[in-house]
Amino acid sequence: MSLETLITENPQIEDLINQQPTFWRNPDYAQKATLPFSKTDIFDAVARLDRFAPYLATVFPETAATNGIIESPLISLNHMQKIWNQPAHELAGHLYLKADNALPISGSIKSRGGIYEVLKFAEEIAIAHGSLAYMYDYSILASTKFRKLFADYSVIVASTGNLALSVGIVATTFGFKTTVYMSHDARQWKKDKLRANNVTVKEFNTNFSAVMPKARAAAASDPNCHFVDDEGSNDLFLGYAVAAVRLQKQLKAQQIKVDQEHPIIVYLPAGVGGSPSGVTFGLKTILGPHVHAIFCEPTHVPSVTLGMMTQLNNRISVYDIGLDGLTAADGLAVGRPSRLAGKVMRTLLFGSVTFPDNDIYRYVAQLQDMQHITVEPSAAAGFTGITPTIKNMPAFNTPNATHIVWATGGSMMPKSERNTNYAKGKALLTDTLAHV
Ligand SMILES: *Cc1c(COP(=O)(O)O)cnc(C)c1O
Repeated sequence: MSLETLITENPQIEDLINQQPTFWRNPDYAQKATLPFSKTDIFDAVARLDRFAPYLATVFPETAATNGIIESPLISLNHMQKIWNQPAHELAGHLYLKADNALPISGSIKSRGGIYEVLKFAEEIAIAHGSLAYMYDYSILASTKFRKLFADYSVIVASTGNLALSVGIVATTFGFKTTVYMSHDARQWKKDKLRANNVTVKEFNTNFSAVMPKARAAAASDPNCHFVDDEGSNDLFLGYAVAAVRLQKQLKAQQIKVDQEHPIIVYLPAGVGGSPSGVTFGLKTILGPHVHAIFCEPTHVPSVTLGMMTQLNNRISVYDIGLDGLTAADGLAVGRPSRLAGKVMRTLLFGSVTFPDNDIYRYVAQLQDMQHITVEPSAAAGFTGITPTIKNMPAFNTPNATHIVWATGGSMMPKSERNTNYAKGKALLTDTLAHV
């Protein structure tokens, strides 16, 4: 299909091409659909994570306090909410942060999907070729005997940074030979940290979508190698979906309702679209029809929005419409969406927004100043969804609504990196004020 035809059918593509911040409402939202996953798949993942909890508590002492369960808090943003205390677009409901920036092991949402996929691979090997039984205490997997078994296998992943951190750290901990393929956006500190953890880091001067085939081919040449496929892995997807089961408990504990009169709107940064789609599938399955997801993407990399708008999904990339795919949000620097995101989200995603990079730096600084919470630039993307959403959807801007910004990463950032990001945000805020 030619670009002209696509634009005729979807005039909003013009805004994407012109890098205009957009609000896209999904016309297929809430229609009937057959989904490739079910509630049973989510609970299978929950059970597997429970089986591995004693192992995780043993090898990652930072998870001992939660008995090996990797989870993040749901935090009320009473102070940050004041940003939306404005006549033009006052936020009537309550604002919360799902603080995946604080998740143990990788300090990002990738601690959900990435770790889950490696655990599943390890379990398969330990059951088939080792002495593990499902009913055993899995902390035995930390023994020399099992580490020797795992050393015969390898794990490969391609990443812009955080997926490599989560998969890399867990895979080497089991004893797998681990190689990560890093795209040009990957931050130096993430590569350094991986090398310090005995992970082989291969660096590439190209974007993520170009690195993927290289990693995939290397994995395919080795029968004992497991490839963590960020462009379409079911295991990654279901690992992310588990978040919903945990969030349900946090919502009940904080007496936050979800029903017709009490909608919950969740704002999720999207890169390849895997993590926000997995989380959204989980939320719709566990919490029902009154939780609504908004994906947030950089104006230079609206990959999931473009794929869903055109229904071409992973068959179109942002490069096809002339965008450069460059953003300071390294976690979102993926030009082609995953094979799963558009397909599964077709009826589950409410809509999406795009934002200029400067917006996320401002939110990084404001979150630091007003709530003393540190996130990386990608992880502040959810905040960019609030204003366009309440402007376009007055029904969501009621006092009974709950708005949850999903903060997707940041607690492992070195101090210098935090300071640079913060300073950049502060400078932009001062600039903005000077122009008022
Ligand atoms: C990976 C990542 C995302 C987006 O997840 P995708 O699965 O690529 O859509 C968002 N924020 C951060 C910090 C990430 O690392």
